[in-house]
Amino acid sequence: MDMNTIEAVVRTTDPADWRDGDAWLAGGTVLFSYGSTAFGPEPLRRLLDLGSAGWQPVTVTADGIELAATCTVAELYALPERLAAEDSGAANWPGLDLIRPCCDSFVASFKVWNMSTVGGNLCTSLPAGPMISLCAGLDGTATVLGPGGSRRELPVAELITGDGQNALAPGELLRSVSLPASALSSRAAFRRLSLSNLGRSGVLLIGRLDAGDRFTLTVTAATKRPVQLRFDSLPEVPELAAELEATIPESLYHDDIHGLPAWRRDMTHRLALEIRAELGIPAGEPATVSGDFWPPQKTQQTKRGA
Ligand SMILES: Cc1cc2nc3c(=O)[nH]c(=O)nc-3n(C[C@H](O)[C@H](O)[C@H](O)COP(=O)(O)OP(=O)(O)OC[C@H]3O[C@@H](n4cnc5c(N)ncnc54)[C@H](O)[C@@H]3O)c2cc1C
Repeated sequence: MDMNTIEAVVRTTDPADWRDGDAWLAGGTVLFSYGSTAFGPEPLRRLLDLGSAGWQPVTVTADGIELAATCTVAELYALPERLAAEDSGAANWPGLDLIRPCCDSFVASFKVWNMSTVGGNLCTSLPAGPMISLCAGLDGTATVLGPGGSRRELPVAELITGDGQNALAPGELLRSVSLPASALSSRAAFRRLSLSNLGRSGVLLIGRLDAGDRFTLTVTAATKRPVQLRFDSLPEVPELAAELEATIPESLYHDDIHGLPAWRRDMTHRLALEIRAELGIPAGEPATVSGDFWPPQKTQQTKRGA
């Protein structure tokens, strides 16, 4: 893509360097695809390159996992295997099981997979952003640095505010996302649907049941921004359906080539009930639940392209 409006590429991670006409450059898979005139009324004039940030991509402690904004999807994909090889206690966190299906939901080539970053995916803020699904689904907290030296934290579910929209002010830099051990140690269930075999996500739901039996459901891809529902215990089917109806108005369902709002709504309800059924089975017991929503319909999984 032609970026002939760019006058300079500046290697920096300091928001104080930011000025009008600048864009943070991470993996560049969006910037170099869309071109320098697609990001606002004025063309971009400088790219602030995060490539030499040197931030540790993934930091694992007893408190959880911190993902640097510059962590690539490929680095994240390798994490569960790496923790298992290191015999880390963190390898037992059930929430790690969400990493690979979320990465696999990224319908992209080898090159894009290896270049694109967690932060770039969040800041692009597409409804089908798989890193949004993962980080919101695990109650991630975003750390954001501001041009005046400010630093603020907000839930990833609140960072993304709409289709291609987020809560970042001009010049703000997403530094990292923290995934708390409390969420990572919950039991988790994942469901995804796409209209085509290697298509972008049309509906992506993540459910979590923590040790105190509190249930959290995160709806992404179906909706323009992440939507979270929280219950003190696993809800009955009518309660779950009613809460979905009450929380997600028709206008919040996303509408594009990857799915009509009515389909996304129906599938959101269906997958929510599947997740409820899955998490309703005590840990370690075989799946013997019967009923309309069991066994779950096979959801379409995507594989990394060549
Ligand atoms: C073939 C292909 C398939 C794709 N499939 C998908 C898909 O399935 N789902 C999806 O969501 N996207 C998809 N994308 C879009 C894109 O690749 C991803 O969103 C990717 O994660 C963007 O990351 P990046 O590091 O390359 O971002 P960049 O291109 O470097 O940046 C993207 C935007 O985020 C801003 N930004 C980047 N990092 C930060 C930061 N730390 N702080 C503040 N702002 C920042 C940039 O200024 C820019 O506006 C696809 C792209 C291609 C080319």
